[in-house]
Amino acid sequence: MKIHVLGSGTPTPTPERFGSAFVAEVAEELVMIDCGPAATWKLAKVGIDPTAVDNLFFTHHHFDHDVDYPCFLLTRWDQSVGSENDLRAYGPAPTVRLTDQLIGPDGAFAHDYNARINWKTSQQVFVNRGGVLPRRPPVVQATDIEAGYVHETTNWSMRSAVAQHAQPYLDCLAYRLDTADGSVVFTGDTEPCDSVLQLAKGADTMLSMCWDMDEEMEASGEHQGQCGVSGAARMAAEAEVGRLVLVHTGPDISQPHGVESALERVSQIYDGEVVFADEFMQLELED
Ligand SMILES: [Zn+2]
Repeated sequence: MKIHVLGSGTPTPTPERFGSAFVAEVAEELVMIDCGPAATWKLAKVGIDPTAVDNLFFTHHHFDHDVDYPCFLLTRWDQSVGSENDLRAYGPAPTVRLTDQLIGPDGAFAHDYNARINWKTSQQVFVNRGGVLPRRPPVVQATDIEAGYVHETTNWSMRSAVAQHAQPYLDCLAYRLDTADGSVVFTGDTEPCDSVLQLAKGADTMLSMCWDMDEEMEASGEHQGQCGVSGAARMAAEAEVGRLVLVHTGPDISQPHGVESALERVSQIYDGEVVFADEFMQLELED
């Protein structure tokens, strides 16, 4: 299994990172977790055709985790020839409503796909690509899920648990992906909590939110619903994960001196392998 870190940042755009998005390559399948800013373009940067990604799991619906969803599903539809699998999108509510508001008959992008379906030049581009007319509108099999939801396929399973973040305004989930090559946990945005800890028990790799140094977060009042360096390290140690990958790293901690301090702090709490994620980084897991 290979994990592509497409987005390792936050809502603050920096030249190095912006938002959350990850893709797992499992056997021949591609499973995407979150679809933050520019995720579709970042897929192209790592050589993945959006039409090959059939599964998308949202941790929650903050824009730094989902704002590229319209771009992703429209690109996926536009670049298709009609024989691809429908996209399956899972996430806490309002995944279904959001999908419908984007591509339903009265959706925000209905004018776009109606034009592409009916305009002669667009039809020709579609036919030249190998498509057969008439062209159907984009279809996404969207499902609202809750903590405890389990999705099982031949090659992988995805389990969800509560992530303590922006409730009661947003339902928020963490995910665990289990495969023959090992297991990966995506904490999503969360404060350190037992539900994520239990989900992560014994996982090979955990990609954890890591906003800033904990003392900075407490001093600035930014600690509730968010995980800092010590919190990520403590969860990794208590869950006995094999490797901790720091993602969703804030703009301060992502400065060179911040990275150094973070890694030093983690090493005082957790003795496994630790990685400060850069965007476009690939993480390998082997059986
Ligand atoms: Zn969030």
